Amino acid sequence: MPDHEAGRFSFDGYEFPYELVLDNALVGICFVADRRLLWTNARMNEMFGYADGELNGQSVRVIYASQDAFDAVGRNYAAITRDRRYTHNLEMRRRDGETFWCTLSGQRIDPADPTSPTVWVLQDISDRLHAEEQLRRANARLEQMVQARTRSLERSNATLSAEIERRRAAQLALTESREKYRTLFRKLPLGLLVADAQGCAIEVNRVLQRSIAARSRKHAMEMLENDAYVLTDDGTTSFASLLERHVTGDLQGEDRFEFRWLTTAGKVREIAVTAAPLRSHGLGAIFAFTDVTRQRRAAERERQQQEALAHASRLSLMGQMTSALAHELGQPLNACQSYVGGLQLRLQHGSATFADVQIAVDKIAGHLERATEIMRSVRSFVSRKPVPQVETDLGALLRKTLALMEPQLRAAQVRPEVHADADLPLVRCNAVEIQQVLVNLLMNALDAMQDTPVDERRLEIRLERDKHAMLAVVVRDTGSGISPDAAARLFEPYFTTKPTGLGMGLMICRNIVESHGGALRLVPSRCRGASFKFTLRTVER
Ligand code: ADP
Repeated sequence: MPDHEAGRFSFDGYEFPYELVLDNALVGICFVADRRLLWTNARMNEMFGYADGELNGQSVRVIYASQDAFDAVGRNYAAITRDRRYTHNLEMRRRDGETFWCTLSGQRIDPADPTSPTVWVLQDISDRLHAEEQLRRANARLEQMVQARTRSLERSNATLSAEIERRRAAQLALTESREKYRTLFRKLPLGLLVADAQGCAIEVNRVLQRSIAARSRKHAMEMLENDAYVLTDDGTTSFASLLERHVTGDLQGEDRFEFRWLTTAGKVREIAVTAAPLRSHGLGAIFAFTDVTRQRRAAERERQQQEALAHASRLSLMGQMTSALAHELGQPLNACQSYVGGLQLRLQHGSATFADVQIAVDKIAGHLERATEIMRSVRSFVSRKPVPQVETDLGALLRKTLALMEPQLRAAQVRPEVHADADLPLVRCNAVEIQQVLVNLLMNALDAMQDTPVDERRLEIRLERDKHAMLAVVVRDTGSGISPDAAARLFEPYFTTKPTGLGMGLMICRNIVESHGGALRLVPSRCRGASFKFTLRTVER
């Protein structure tokens, strides 16, 4: 134990003066009485920026940063005893006015005497507080960073969860749609074939297998690759080359083609194929097969019926022209007969010269030629022989038709007026059928003008260019005209206002024109009579 003496204490045989200890202390120490500084140690002077002894005798107020701090300590004086030390952190003031934080710890020297001086220990804690503040700020920053990171992680998590959910849904949808398409592929009542980018069949559905009487998918593919079953018009006998053409070509959208399939039973089926490109997964195209044999046969039957009807109608038209034609034919025949009679007489009398015979024979040949011409045009008009569509000069066809109808026109006392645009293009048509349309329209016009005074009968035929590369034929008459009721029914079968009419003519004409890609209609007109117009596609020269 140290041995205390006045002003010094001894320890372990050494003596230490108190002042030396107090002055070397690393904390500020002072003695205070009546709130005045009695003595301050060197550290305290240094802390507050005072010279040695300068603070002695001064009020402690000078070292407090504020009156409040000074008062707060004053209020606690009564409580300062030996046991209850006053310890607090307070803001203090240096001599130069700068403030700093200190931990103050005070105690009465004699706790029993409330007037006894007090001893104070002051420790500059600014650095500590500063460090603590730095730490607090660093902590706050760290906290902010952690929170920001947490938020960003939460966001990423949410995005990730949404993405996972989206992918899951997409996967599900894909699986469902794959399943749907697989079912469609199997169940669609349509033969389907998928070919790869090289045109090799890689998938064939059941319907197609059944329709080509294949035992299995593999067998179907073998059959499709076998040239013996496929017949094409353009000489492409291999189905593979047919497919290849459609997958490796510049097929952009849908494409259609047809071929004939020779069944194992030796029958021919007409197959229509629609090909659509598949640009994904190395696929080439999907082909939808439809057996159109029945439709084609029905269409062919219908075409034949139309043809028969048209032929019957031509015969009927010809029937209407018969008497005028017979008269027309009678003229050259009568002329021939009189030439032959005259020649016979001269030969009997022996007065016929070689020149007479020659003249008569030439005349007879000319008249016979005219009769033959009439017969030829009648025969071609009523012929049932299928005539192909060829490039035709409609002006020439009209002239030929007017020649055929010449007797009829003469009998009706009508002189047709033909107006044709210059340089008219050709049209592609079946000349017999189009002639039939012309005859029908002209005969109707003549019928309609029966009650028109002769000098008012006008039959006008115009050949003109129409829009969209079409050529138009307009037949206008000054006949009885057509009432609105009749106009609505003109093209119906059996509609006729004539006592001996069949009412099939205009309907057949419309079928003919439409089968040529044109149109036939009644043209509304404010003038007397009726006007019909039909169009045909032109062939540009
Ligand atoms: P049909 O001549 O046997 O009656 P169409 O089909 O050729 O059959 O004509 C149907 C009907 O249309 C005719 O009966 C007639 O009433 C009317 N028609 C056709 N062309 C004319 C026309 N140029 N002027 C007046 N009526 C017409």
